[in-house]
This record gives sequence, structure tokens and C-alpha cells, in this order.
Amino acid sequence: MPPTAPVRVTDPVNLMTPGQICAERLTHRQLVQLTLTTEDTIIFCAKRRLLANSSTCPACHVPRLLIRDTSVKADGVRWRCPRCRSLKTIRDGSLFSNSCLELNQLLTFIYFWCEDLLQRDCARQSNMSERSAVEWAEFCRNVCQQHLVENPMLVGGPRVDPATGNFLEPHTVEIDESLLAK
Ligand SMILES: [Zn+2]
Repeated sequence: MPPTAPVRVTDPVNLMTPGQICAERLTHRQLVQLTLTTEDTIIFCAKRRLLANSSTCPACHVPRLLIRDTSVKADGVRWRCPRCRSLKTIRDGSLFSNSCLELNQLLTFIYFWCEDLLQRDCARQSNMSERSAVEWAEFCRNVCQQHLVENPMLVGGPRVDPATGNFLEPHTVEIDESLLAK
């Protein structure tokens, strides 16, 4: 009997919590070591919830299998329903779903964008065209902006009344979209 294809990228115990993901500070060398092969990269992404760890066929309500697929744009694997045999990219519903670039290129670009490299240097490091770099830089900015809108943070700590020492209502600060642009 042929071995059964897995229904998960990685064991769910390996999935990082949002807190662990936010607290992680990877050096570029660590990122490279964790993403040496396409398979490593997919596991890296699944652990950090950048790719789904499993997939369910909406028609058959059964878990799809992770099958090897060497066709272009398949990332080496694809989800396939064991009943209706429909296929789904592992990028479905992820940040990467609309891109044809390799996952490693995208991770490299995002890493250096977060490190504040100039856009053209992010492009060079990730072997990405200037045009793709423009799109991905805009995408990164939008993700950050969305995060700030959904997670308003206190800038400069709480306001304290100097006379009484009591906390005051925080000021609301409007963030101009252009200020987020690099
Ligand atoms: Zn199905």
C-alpha cells in the first residue's frame, strides 16, 4: 500500500502562539537556516500561521491531503481532496495567495523591509523586480497600517494629571497614511 499523504503541514503542537510569533526576533542567518529548502519554508510558514496547516474540502467536508506536485506555482505540494480530487494551492487564503514569486523571495523581502532597508535593497536581496518590490512594499505598509488600526496602542505611555497623579483619558492620535510610507 502506498503511504498515505499527510493532512497537515506540521504537527499542531509545533504551531506557534500569536504571542510567540510576535516575540520572535530572527536574525537573517536564522531565517536562512530555517528556510533552506522549499519544504522547510512551507513548514516555517505554517508554524508561524503564514500558511494554513490543514485544509478542508468545502464540498466533501473532509480534510484535504498534502500531495507532492512539481508543476509550476505549486510550491512542490498542493492540497487535494481525497474524494472529489479537487486541488487547492497551499497559499489559499494566505498573504502570499496572489503572488507567483517563491515563498523564500517573499520572506526575504518582508524580512529586509521590516529591517528598514531601502526598497531597492529589499528587491535586490530577494531577487525581485523593482515592480514587484513596489507592490510588496505597499502590501507590507497596508498590513502594518491595518494592524495599527485594529490594535490602537498608547504612544508615550499613559497621560497622568500632574496635580492629582490620576490617569487621564488618552489622546487619540490620527495617523496620516503618508507618514507610514517609506
Ligand atoms: Zn472534495
